[in-house]
Amino acid sequence: MKHKNSFLVYSLVLVLIFISFSCKSLKDSKNGELCVKKPKYIFLFIGDGMGINHVSLAKYFYKEKADDISFTNFPYFGVCTTSSKNSLITDSGAAGSAIACGEKTNSGNISYYPWFSEDSIPLSFAKIAHEKGMKVGIITSVSINHATPAAFYAQSPHRDLYYEIGNQLPESNFEFFGGGGFKHPQGKDNDQPDLYEKAKSKNYIVSSNINDFKNIDNKDEKYMFVNPKLGWESDMPYLIDRKADGGYSLADFVKTGINVLDNPNGFFIMLEGGKIDWAAHSNDGAAIVKDIYDMDLAIREAYEFYKKYPDETLILVTADHETGGLSLGNAYKGDDSQFILLDNQKISINSFSQKIKDYKQNNEDYFINDIWKFSEEYFFTESPIYSASDSTRVLEAFNYYFYDKSPSTTLEPKILYGSENPVASTFGNIICTKAGLGFTSWSHTAAAVPVFSIGVGAEKFGGAIDNTEIKTLLLEALGW
Ligand SMILES: [Zn+2]
Repeated sequence: MKHKNSFLVYSLVLVLIFISFSCKSLKDSKNGELCVKKPKYIFLFIGDGMGINHVSLAKYFYKEKADDISFTNFPYFGVCTTSSKNSLITDSGAAGSAIACGEKTNSGNISYYPWFSEDSIPLSFAKIAHEKGMKVGIITSVSINHATPAAFYAQSPHRDLYYEIGNQLPESNFEFFGGGGFKHPQGKDNDQPDLYEKAKSKNYIVSSNINDFKNIDNKDEKYMFVNPKLGWESDMPYLIDRKADGGYSLADFVKTGINVLDNPNGFFIMLEGGKIDWAAHSNDGAAIVKDIYDMDLAIREAYEFYKKYPDETLILVTADHETGGLSLGNAYKGDDSQFILLDNQKISINSFSQKIKDYKQNNEDYFINDIWKFSEEYFFTESPIYSASDSTRVLEAFNYYFYDKSPSTTLEPKILYGSENPVASTFGNIICTKAGLGFTSWSHTAAAVPVFSIGVGAEKFGGAIDNTEIKTLLLEALGW
């Protein structure tokens, strides 16, 4: 009998241990309710301007190079509508606000909702997560006070108020900022107190050296890790333009963010691949695929983290809107596309534009033969085979830019060339056309964007959603 009793007790203990173990990983034992797994570590990747076709193009391109865009292999896929409060075609300010705060606002606004009463203004998911004890990291390849990152920590009636937005960064007390630096750090007229100094005075450790973020003893500090090489808008270089001295990759920033933020209360990291949008505004296929790849390498770091904590991690990859009206296939090539031709392009259209502007500035006479030489020297590893009409287009762009002679078309130059240098834009268009791509716009479009997800709660993001639902679904996944 005694033996039987001890067997019963032993079995009961085992059952209790099993129940408490499964409660930890599968259930929340509070009030005896069945609980669902909740994400403790959340990654939100936003490819600015990254439509479904941009992702497919990058995937096809890298598959041909025996590589991949890894996030397309995540188990859940959704499509997300992106309109702003006042326009079917949104900007990044309104779209970032909708994703961050779960409410539409007007294009140009940054998490700005004057029609809400003071005590009911929608807060960004990042702010809510921070209030609940999670650490927060914001990373971007463009300036840190640009529209998308700003939507998570600031409020502004206009996205162009860079200084005022940057001033709100240290007030957020978010633990980590990384990637690009401040645009207008001393105000538009360079007459304001320096924003980096303000961040330091608010106990941020500001550095451009990755080693300053390794072996951190005191994890209660707040950190701002700025890429050592910045463009005129305090943005990181495109991957296609990144030289040995170009600084760090988005993967370096997310790895550093994880190191700084990892703690028992969990974290939320938002990372924006901001220059995918800039490349699409330039209709630059090669820069688009390479910057998507750069973001994918950062996503692979998050995925490694997910593999360590699969029951506690959620990774979302989406976009704020589509840019460029990109088609995979065009009227010239029919079904004969060759996306891998983009690999012949050595630098971005934007960098090539700069070379041509420099040539104009440094010379008094200009020769079309010099332009052809530049294209071989700087732009292509292997030039495409030019048709007679390609050559005519290059000559017309040359005459327009250097001698102000209108091209022989009824199209306005801004429709024909967009905002890049006309000559560089024409060379870029020639290679994209030969690769089989088409662009219908130099701006954003209303096309729906993809949502790829994996991890705890990922299934919520499958199917058709609107960008305002992302915050709600995150809160739902957390049970908040
Ligand atoms: Zn844009």
